[in-house]
Amino acid sequence: RGSCASDSSDSVISTGSETDSQVYKVVLLGEHGVGKSSLARVFGGLEDAGHDCDEAGNTYDRSLVVDDEEASILLYDIWEQDNSQWLKEQCMRMGDAYIIVYSVTDKSSFEKASELRIQLRRARQSENIPIILVGNKSDLVRSREVSVDEGRACAVVFDCKFIETSASLHHNVHALFEGIVRQIRLRKDSKEE
Ligand code: GDP
Ligand code: MG
Repeated sequence: RGSCASDSSDSVISTGSETDSQVYKVVLLGEHGVGKSSLARVFGGLEDAGHDCDEAGNTYDRSLVVDDEEASILLYDIWEQDNSQWLKEQCMRMGDAYIIVYSVTDKSSFEKASELRIQLRRARQSENIPIILVGNKSDLVRSREVSVDEGRACAVVFDCKFIETSASLHHNVHALFEGIVRQIRLRKDSKEE
């Protein structure tokens, strides 16, 4: 969207090949009903996230500026597209980063999140893949079953970042995707050293 128009100093900053045009593939994982598609729609700029258009699967393409640098994200909301094992394995392999979502109102979705983390570790053994654990539906205070501390502790065990969001209120959704971009950049930089 032309946000780099005034940036004429990139010959100094960039070392050549793959700087700005990099597209990061981010995959949403999590049990049915936790709010993956809602988060994806907010990210994609389709504002009425409360509207349930339950299509099978979607991919969203968006650029955002994080720490003065543009990043492009391809967000895949395809985990539940069909029930084939093939697709699930594909999902586990294709991502540059993962968002594992549970609902703070659903303990079993929280337990499922741990399972997914383990599966992911198994599929991508030696790789240090950025993961953010997301406790969604933080607006539903009265029906909360998973505390912030439990979520945080889980993220420590699984060596990933943690954030609580509300897709309905758009709370922390932007912060989530900024966080993903920062994680990807961090791990890339440490690899290139
Ligand atoms: P998915 O199966 O993981 O894709 O979940 P959906 O995005 O389809 O959401 C499942 C249901 O939870 C829908 O009725 C959403 O409107 C609702 N939902 C999603 N996110 C939130 C949230 O942050 N707060 C509340 N209160 N409801 C949400
Ligand atoms: Mg969905």
